[in-house]
Amino acid sequence: MAVSCEDDQRKSRLRALGYTDTQIKAMDDEEYGDRKLTDKSTYIKQDIQACLQRSDLYISNPNSTNTVSHFSLLANQIITFVCLMVRPGLITPTPLERCMQIAYTAKLNSGCISRQVGAVVTDKNFSVQSVGWNDTPFGQVPCSLRNRFDLVSGNDQEAYSEYEKSNIQYIARFTQESEKYLKIEKTGRNVSYCFKSEYNDLIGEKNQVHTRSLHAEENAFLQISKYGGRGIENGKLFTTASPCELCSKKAYQLGVKEIYYIDPYPGIAMTHILMGGTNNPELILFSGAIGKAFHNLYSSKMPYKDELNALSL
Ligand SMILES: [Zn+2]
Ligand SMILES: [Zn+2]
Repeated sequence: MAVSCEDDQRKSRLRALGYTDTQIKAMDDEEYGDRKLTDKSTYIKQDIQACLQRSDLYISNPNSTNTVSHFSLLANQIITFVCLMVRPGLITPTPLERCMQIAYTAKLNSGCISRQVGAVVTDKNFSVQSVGWNDTPFGQVPCSLRNRFDLVSGNDQEAYSEYEKSNIQYIARFTQESEKYLKIEKTGRNVSYCFKSEYNDLIGEKNQVHTRSLHAEENAFLQISKYGGRGIENGKLFTTASPCELCSKKAYQLGVKEIYYIDPYPGIAMTHILMGGTNNPELILFSGAIGKAFHNLYSSKMPYKDELNALSL
């Protein structure tokens, strides 16, 4: 289970508890930062992002607008989940849960070896217009199916780009780096690799631009332009992560009015782009059940009609 609130609210609550901005930043770096497998602390630190990704019950705990409703939204969500645990199928999923569950299903199709993200675009009435996941453009082989040693030894040529196959510096470094993976190949695993990490290491940058994949959100938007469909102005976007700066701009241009997200991404996408003008979409932290919890909570043990008939005997 994950309990979240919007990032600015979280920060203001921490400030109210006496934490300085420097302390909050240090805490975020601890809980949200990059993890090195060789650092001992990696194994004992909180990993908020992984928790958010693994959770299947999401509770949102926003600030209430007045004193009497303090925590009532939080309480209502907990009561709903407890009732559904006692009586699965007691009520049907909300439109938000239905759409986020579809995004969650779509994310499993991603061939990215570091993170799977799913997205759904609906019109203003939650009618699904397209789905997407983070993956390479159609016609390019996903990272999960590529192999270091295939590239080095010239096998499966069409899976690798002209750059990867012909740039001398890239190949030299890549071949040398590949040596340490030989022992893994012997275990029968496919030794995939992330081009972005390899290339960034080569040029000494940390640039997200070099990713091979489209983001789930832009992929969902593009399905509509590619295959035709209805305009999505005033529609909604669901993402199992949260929209980055680039996807936020696309959502803004498309006139998306509500963005439901799970992972409060600590970037400036929200405050800079999505709150950047006069047609700002509403950003709503998702709450509800998805994944296994969706099925467990919403599949009733028997048809309610049968239950009533049996009890009336
Ligand atoms: Zn990848
Ligand atoms: Zn994005």
